[in-house]
Amino acid sequence: MKEIFSYVGGQFLPGPRTFSKRSPVDNSLVALVHEADEHVVNLAVSAAREARQDWEEWDRIDRADLLDRLASAILERADDLALAEVADIGRSKSEVLAAHVARTVETFRLYATLLRTESNDAWQGRALSPNIPRNQAPQTLAYTSRRPLGVVAIIAPWNVPLLLLALNLAPALAAGNCVIAKPSEHSPSSAALLAEILHEAGLPLGVFNVVHGFGANSTGAILAAHPGIDGFGFTGEGRSATAIMKSAAEGLRPVLFELGGKNAGLVFADADLDKAAQACATAAFANSGQVCLSMERLFVERSVFDAFVSKLVENANRHTLGPLISQDHRSHVHEAVKRARQAGGQCIIGGEIPEGDGAYYPATILTGLPDDAELSRKETFGPIVHVAPFDSEAEAIARANDTEFGLASMVWTNDLSRAHRTAAALKAGINWVNCWQVRDFITPLQGHGRSGVGVQGGRESLEFYSQVTTTVVSL
Ligand code: NAD
Repeated sequence: MKEIFSYVGGQFLPGPRTFSKRSPVDNSLVALVHEADEHVVNLAVSAAREARQDWEEWDRIDRADLLDRLASAILERADDLALAEVADIGRSKSEVLAAHVARTVETFRLYATLLRTESNDAWQGRALSPNIPRNQAPQTLAYTSRRPLGVVAIIAPWNVPLLLLALNLAPALAAGNCVIAKPSEHSPSSAALLAEILHEAGLPLGVFNVVHGFGANSTGAILAAHPGIDGFGFTGEGRSATAIMKSAAEGLRPVLFELGGKNAGLVFADADLDKAAQACATAAFANSGQVCLSMERLFVERSVFDAFVSKLVENANRHTLGPLISQDHRSHVHEAVKRARQAGGQCIIGGEIPEGDGAYYPATILTGLPDDAELSRKETFGPIVHVAPFDSEAEAIARANDTEFGLASMVWTNDLSRAHRTAAALKAGINWVNCWQVRDFITPLQGHGRSGVGVQGGRESLEFYSQVTTTVVSL
């Protein structure tokens, strides 16, 4: 039986207890995972703090070269990484290769490039001082430089395990931090393999550490409370983020949070309905809806509502859905659908648990719910989409914005002015016009409202993982 150990200072360490990671496809045992307790977390923080000084002193070009080598090493083991994620989360190998592993390689390469091309800000001119008369103010050169935060914790979710770890890991390493990663208890395998890969590729020992375990009352909470952590990159649910933020408040440590959404897509009557329906089905059902950027609410102009819904159903039927992450998550999704039906929602397709062992759930399309229904407001993180008609642009925008979240939105229209106008009015970190989930990681992404804290993406992530110093030279 495969066993998964924590990776601390270059060594694979057992924990005092193990837990079973089971497959969502057939409930078979994937691995026994050693849960890191306080002792193991302490060792990881010590190893990271020890490695810190040398790593901080690396020249940025050397660090960029190393990031490129890490990217190549990840690419060489792409198949193994994909198989590890397939076993943990049940997504197809081709999707995992393209959506998780290839984009992880891309992320490491992006941060290597950003490091090589990094520049600081500088200002030259007369600078005022309270101690010197204005007409005698000196000419100065002021410039910025950056240093790492120190030792950071990266706490990752299970839905796109490797990539969502890498989106924090690559910039944290690029900025010169040592990292302690905690993958989700539902998806430990790819992070465990990544530790091996980065070790073999020559990342200095202690710079990257992995501790396995659960969140609350376990490894995650121990890590969040540890005073030796200087900052947090977290991707996951709002409730977990609140707990981490409370711990981070002790010591005033910075956080970067990428959280959930209840994303809305607007489809106007002038849109290409075939393309819109195809993209909306993908936006609702890819990875069985377990994507933070999924569209769980669609608003469709009334004159094309019926036509659109039948095209959406046709497209939904073309999707082969993998399992949800666990039986528990499936129950949670199904209970939400049952309550939606009780609240007046009609299931056009789906909504029933299929026979068999795996945690499967069908593509489910609902209509008829009021905007204040639970399913209209709370993320299901499953293959569930609600479709509602609207009569005017202003109404569609207001209803889409009527949410405490603000991660992503989507607009389908062939009217250029409306596209820009609507996108600007939608309260979301990323607005897609006539497309979905098209993103270069050099662009920033900030969850508005309860969808996040801070900005993730190219330079913005480098800035989060570092601290700026301004030096002023009197000329
Ligand atoms: P989760 O919050 O349950 O778990 C995420 C990680 O946090 C896991 O490693 C978990 O063990 C840990 N954790 C949980 N409670 C903790 C605590 N009290 N202290 C420390 N660590 C703790 O989220 P999940 O179920 O793994 O992921 C699904 C959620 O993530 C959804 O809400 C989804 O929308 C969101 N998400 C957001 C993005 C984004 O970029 N905005 C991306 C993917 C997923």
